[in-house]
Amino acid sequence: MTKNNKVLALKYRPQVFKDLIGQDIVSKTISNSIKINKIPNAYLFTGIRGVGKTTIARIIAKSLNCSKENNKPCSNDLCENCKAISNSNHIDVLEMDAASKTGVDDVRDLIDFSRYGPTSARFKIFIIDEVHMLSKQAFNALLKTLEEPPEYLKFIFATTEIKKIPITVVSRCQRFDLSRVKSSELLNFIKKISEKEMGNVSEEALKLIVKISEGSVRDALSLLDRALLSQEKEQELDINKAQKIFGYFDKFHLIELFKNIFDGNEKETLKIYRYLYDQGVSPKIFLNDFLELLYYFKNISSLKVDGTNFSLNDKEFEAIKKISENVDNETLLLFWQFTIKTLEEIDVVSNQNLSMEMFLIRLIYLKGISNFSESILENKNLSTQSNNQSNQKNKLENEKVDHDLKDFKNKTIGQMKNIYQEKKKSDQSVIKNEQKTYLEIKTFSDLINTCNAEKEINLKYELETNVNLVSFENKRIEISFNNNLDKEFIKNLSSKLYEWTNERWIISLSKKIGQPSIKEENLLFKQKSLKKAEKGETYKKVLGNFPDAELININKIKDEN
Ligand SMILES: [Zn+2]
Repeated sequence: MTKNNKVLALKYRPQVFKDLIGQDIVSKTISNSIKINKIPNAYLFTGIRGVGKTTIARIIAKSLNCSKENNKPCSNDLCENCKAISNSNHIDVLEMDAASKTGVDDVRDLIDFSRYGPTSARFKIFIIDEVHMLSKQAFNALLKTLEEPPEYLKFIFATTEIKKIPITVVSRCQRFDLSRVKSSELLNFIKKISEKEMGNVSEEALKLIVKISEGSVRDALSLLDRALLSQEKEQELDINKAQKIFGYFDKFHLIELFKNIFDGNEKETLKIYRYLYDQGVSPKIFLNDFLELLYYFKNISSLKVDGTNFSLNDKEFEAIKKISENVDNETLLLFWQFTIKTLEEIDVVSNQNLSMEMFLIRLIYLKGISNFSESILENKNLSTQSNNQSNQKNKLENEKVDHDLKDFKNKTIGQMKNIYQEKKKSDQSVIKNEQKTYLEIKTFSDLINTCNAEKEINLKYELETNVNLVSFENKRIEISFNNNLDKEFIKNLSSKLYEWTNERWIISLSKKIGQPSIKEENLLFKQKSLKKAEKGETYKKVLGNFPDAELININKIKDEN
């Protein structure tokens, strides 16, 4: 149990460089440069939340201003300067949070204040946190001082979003990128602290903390705080309790849920979801975990258990691997897209729980689509039915989401149907070899149909427009061509033919004129038809009424004999 009320993140805040976790190179570089008195006018620290940006800023401030040691902070804040800086109340070290003071006036005050030298220490130091929040004018006002600051003035900036800082500012700073703290390093760190605090927390529970905090030391410590506070006497805090405390849930339930979705088992899917919901899992957390698991289903074959950042244990890893063998990538990518869309929309829905159930039901039907099942076309009936089930109050919101989802789904169905039709076409025009999946191309029109089915539109165009067929035999094509033929055509066609048939084809160029190309043939046909029509009775009748009429084109009409 914690012995005092100070939160762990404050209690164990590193006070000297060597206490910093996971930022060894940065610490060394900075302390060395201070030692040889090469101190930049401004430091800029960037990195995710809770990796030690402002902590390093304070350690630097102490190194520069400590009155006991030279070039490094005294340990345990022995001097007045270090103590005051640690407590954020040193008169010469100003900490500003740009998130609350973003305006040009705040920066002007700061610059005014910088005109006078330090009162009690060697340097006057401005620490500006979340510096990317400053307005454009504020940055401009800052720029001049940043270019040529008085010798006693130093800036230390921290940001989570480096891209929002003007390049003119970045280029005047010495920049350090703080990395996420590695899982194993963070685990060791909180394990030690848990021991120091007499905590009785299982290794698995600590791993869960590391996983949730995603490399942020501050997050890890505040989660450990919560774990220690809710720990009951003499009882180990195990993974199950930890999951409850953090609103986190067993991956295994989620894996089961996936299995049921893939199997099309609507009833069981909803049962598992409701169980998770009752455990206090919020829809947002649920969706994010859902996405994470989708990632694993898609990529499990190229991963190892320890490559998942403690996210999966051996049992879960194996289960995912097994299930994923029967799920195609198309479905997973479709699910991914759909889940992201739902996540974007979840905030506009007032009853998120109902939306989640609808989300899961839809996935089951999306799965149906990707199997080319005919049942998709009945999706209209389905959504109406489910709408009736949902509560009147949420009807409006649901309808909005419904509409968008339907839109999305229709597009998807469109895409899927295209693939389906292409497949059908290629099945019709080209006879499949029974043993292999290679194609048999027997005629020139087989070849053109295959180009169409395989979406080789350029090849198809060349074949129809610029090629005159001289002869077509098995694995041997002789052609002549006009000047417009693509230079790469023969090379491309050969490689595609090999890909499709697994056999080498010989394509030779002939001096013979060859048959008219498809395009020429069409043109000839049109000319012939026009000539024939000009002799016909209909045209003569028209000319009788409109002597200037000219026959340009002929279209067939259904009823025409
Ligand atoms: Zn000191």
